Formats: sequence, C-alpha cells, structure tokens
Amino acid sequence: MLSTMMNTPLTITSLMHFAEKVHGASEIVSVTADNPNHSYTYRDAFARVRKLANALKALGAEQGDRIATLAWNDYRHLELYYAISCSGMVCHTINPRLFPEQLEFIVNHADDRWIFLDVAFVPILEKMQELMPKVKGFVILTDEAHMPETGLRNVHCYETLIADKPDTFDWPQLDENTASAMCYTSGTTGNPKGVVYNHRSTILHVYASSLPEAFNLSSRTVVMPIVPMFHVNGWGLVYSAPMVGAKLVMPGPKMGDGEILCNLINEHKVSASAGVPTVWLALLQYLDSSGQRVPSLERLTVGGAACPQMIIEEFAQKHNVEVQQAWGMTEMSPLGTYNQPRPNELDLPADEFMKNRLKQGRPIFGVDMRIEDEDGNELPWDGKSSGAVKVRGPWITESYYGLDNGGADEDGWFETGDVACMTSDGLMQITDRTKDVIKSGGEWISSIDLENCAVNHPAVAEAAVIGAPHPKWTERPLLLAVLKEGESITQEEMLGWFDGKVAKWWIPADCVFVESLPHTATGKISKKDLREDYQDFKWSDV
Ligand code: ADP
Repeated sequence: MLSTMMNTPLTITSLMHFAEKVHGASEIVSVTADNPNHSYTYRDAFARVRKLANALKALGAEQGDRIATLAWNDYRHLELYYAISCSGMVCHTINPRLFPEQLEFIVNHADDRWIFLDVAFVPILEKMQELMPKVKGFVILTDEAHMPETGLRNVHCYETLIADKPDTFDWPQLDENTASAMCYTSGTTGNPKGVVYNHRSTILHVYASSLPEAFNLSSRTVVMPIVPMFHVNGWGLVYSAPMVGAKLVMPGPKMGDGEILCNLINEHKVSASAGVPTVWLALLQYLDSSGQRVPSLERLTVGGAACPQMIIEEFAQKHNVEVQQAWGMTEMSPLGTYNQPRPNELDLPADEFMKNRLKQGRPIFGVDMRIEDEDGNELPWDGKSSGAVKVRGPWITESYYGLDNGGADEDGWFETGDVACMTSDGLMQITDRTKDVIKSGGEWISSIDLENCAVNHPAVAEAAVIGAPHPKWTERPLLLAVLKEGESITQEEMLGWFDGKVAKWWIPADCVFVESLPHTATGKISKKDLREDYQDFKWSDV
C-alpha cells in the first residue's frame, strides 16, 4: 500500500528558502582578509546568493559543472556553497594546504570549470594554471580595492562580478539525488579520492547531526566553525546553522590564532565551536598566557583525530567548557558518532567519566555500524573485542568519483580503515587505523593509546607511535616525540612514563626526540612518512 504523504525532494534549495524566511534576521559574522569584522544577516546572505547564481550563469557555468573553491571560512564561501549547489552545480571545496601535485591532480580529475579563490592563494594558482587547461577562469574572493596584481588568465573580482546582477533568481527544481558538493580525501596512500555528496545526503546529515545527541544546535546557539569549509563541508555546520537559525561566527584565515579566536568568542558570545585538537591547544595556550576568560563558551566539538585528555581536562577545570568528541570521515559527510554524556554517566567517579569522554561516541541514527575480525566475522559489542569498523547509511559514500575500486563491499558496507571496540550500549572507542596498527609478536598494539599517553606527559608537545620492523617481534612500537620549548627529558624518563599506564608489552621499545613530525594536508601526523623514515631503525635492545 502506498502512503498519502507528499514526495517532497530533500534539497539544499529548500533549506535555503526556509532559513531566509524563518531565520532571516540571524547573523553571520566573518573575518576576511579584506575586512576583520564583516557582519550581515541570513537574509542579506541569500540575496547575494541569488546575485551570485546569476553571475555563475553569466559566466556560462551549467548544471553538473564542478565549480571549485579554495577559501577559508567566511561569508563569501558560504554564498558559494549555496549558489553553486542550488544552481544544480557541484561545489568542489579544495584544501589549499594540499601539495601542488595533489592540487593539480584533483582539479583535473574533478574537471573543475571555474576556481573561486581567496587572495592568499593567488600565487599558488598562478604557478599552476597552465597545468589546469580545462579551467575556464578564476574569481578572486575580494572587492576591487583589494584585487591583487595577477597573471591568472580570465580573472574576475568577486564583488564586481556580482555587483550588477539582479537579486532574483529562478532556481531549478532539482532531484534530491543531484550531486551538490565534492571533497577529496587527502590520501595518505596513493592519489586523493573524490567523494560526491548530494542534496538528499546533505539534508539527512544535517537533520541527524544537529540533534541534541550530536551537535545540539538551536537558534540560541552561537556557533563558530573552526573546522575548515574546505574539509567535508565544515562538518555540515554551514547547513545546520541556517536550518536552526544559529548565529554563525566565521574566523576566516585566523582559525589557528588563539588570540583572535578568544576575541571572537567574547565579542559575539560564541557558545559552541568545532575543530581538530590542534586548534584547541592554540586557544588553551593563549588563554593560559593572557589570563583571558571565555565565559560564553559552553562546549567544543573535537574530531578528525583523537582528543588528548589534557584538552578535555583543562577546558573543564579552568574554563568550565565541555569538550565533546566526535568521529567521522570525508566519506561519511562526515559525522558517524558523537559523544554526548548520558545521564547515568554523570554519577560515575571522575576517572571512569574521563575514560568515557576519551571515546569517540555513539553512532547517530542513520549510521549503521559493525566491527569485524580479520576474517570478516562480526564481533560483539562487549567493550573488549576490537576490529575493523564498517558503516553504511544514506550519507555514506558508496564509491569514489571516477574510480572502480574502493567504496562499499557487495553487502553495502564501507570499510572505514579504523579499528575500534564498542560497548554494549554503542559507545565506540577507536583503537587504531587499520594501516597504522602495530602488530608485535602476533598481538595488536594500539598506537592511539600510546600517543595519548605520551602527550599527557607535561614536557611533550606532540607524539607519534609507529610499528617499526623488529627482528624478534616482527614489529615493535617506536615513539617519536616533540618536546615543548625549553623542556628536556631523557629517553628513560619518557619511556618510564608509560609504566603502569599501559600493558607492559605495549610500552614503546625505544624513543626518538625529534624537532617536528611530518603532517598531511589536513594537519594529521603522516604515519606513512614516518614508517618510511624509520624502516631501518636500529633498536637499542638488538
Ligand atoms: P583523511 O583521509 O584526510 O584523514 P578524514 O578527515 O576524512 O580524512 O579522516 C577521517 C579519519 O580521521 C577517520 O577515519 C579516523 O581515523 C580519524 N578520526 C576522525 N575523528 C576521530 C576521532 N575523534 N578520534 C580518532 N580518530 C578520528
């Protein structure tokens, strides 16, 4: 029997119309290279989105075209998100920190037609434009007064481009499965791989990720997305804030600047923010050194990498800010799990409570999850069994753009590359990534647990643990640590720190103090490079 319900497509266009009508007065504040204090309303934003849609049409862009952005988090980038997707084109957000070869690869692989870029990225593209023959031209995200001298071909100034365009636009009726955006994973192995989102997946992800069990967003939230809009749609916040009418505060190029973040939080009464752990370290350091407070800030979402205990503790104890962990990936739009404490956890002793906070959270409805052993057998959710995490659901990718390999298996499960265990009530703890797992004497050792332990040492700024080849044990954990400025400790002190904190046979067999660790374009430690660098490591016990 069929239902009597309407078959209304779930589109970003309908989200835009709704936000303008119902939350039109909500504010968007941005820092940009040309204006440290830009502010307007959702109503203003969507009027400019229509001007931009007219400008895209005037440039000759057509439905299905990939339009690339190389930009920080600000209002112009938000306008691009909506104008491109709602025109039936694909907003291809590019990470400007990618290495030039990767940038060239993905622009050509995605077949980008136009590139909209911040002034700061003009020199990078000037050097590469000949390598991107199919790109028709470039639009610089600034006004005439701040246009740089540039050798980019067919170049336009954003503000001039939209200035004379009408603020009315006849939006196309889109099927909800129309591609809306795409993002390439940074590719720790091989070339980057493209994930293509559609209107339906985006809207469903926004509904689920805004729930109180996840980001917990409402019109009373003032949200500052620090997670870049070039990385997995800024974790969807650029869609979810307009859905609920939350005020948006966008730090532009200043997302790593503790002082500016603190000022933005205080000036705009930011209550929630989201980003990778390193950003929060920068803010904590600034707060410590300046003695500033952030009284409006209620919670921070941390994802992209495991959150060190120190960040959770310091924010809670010194600033009364709750740090909540989330887990996901480019292929998952990105949200898979979120760690909101349950009522029964609030009475737990402090150390038990903290143990739970260090986990990655519970799946949100819509994300079906299982863990498997090496033979593909499903493992129980018993808080002990650890295995490869597989997921499926309406905002998880089935395949990669233009590739026959990778993506979901024949049963529709997508292998995340993470290794985790689950408690009986669905609390997930990532113990490793499949390719980073250390196998010593046939047993798995969690590099993440060891790294967490190492960075909790007061002298350690950053740490990585890799499995390096060992004649007796196949692999043993090797610790690479960067010390904080002015700190010095011995190898014995460092390795002794693990005593009693992890199983004896997990303790790194050796430790090297290094000046810095290699990072990928998304700011994660590149274990691939470290494994290569230390493949011939001479163990002191051999
Ligand atoms: P990349 O492929 O560039 O690493 P993603 O940002 O999509 O791109 O990375 C997703 C991966 O990041 C996950 O598979 C997981 O390994 C790691 N990750 C994300 N969130 C967390 C978290 N809260 N704790 C531990 N690891 C995380």
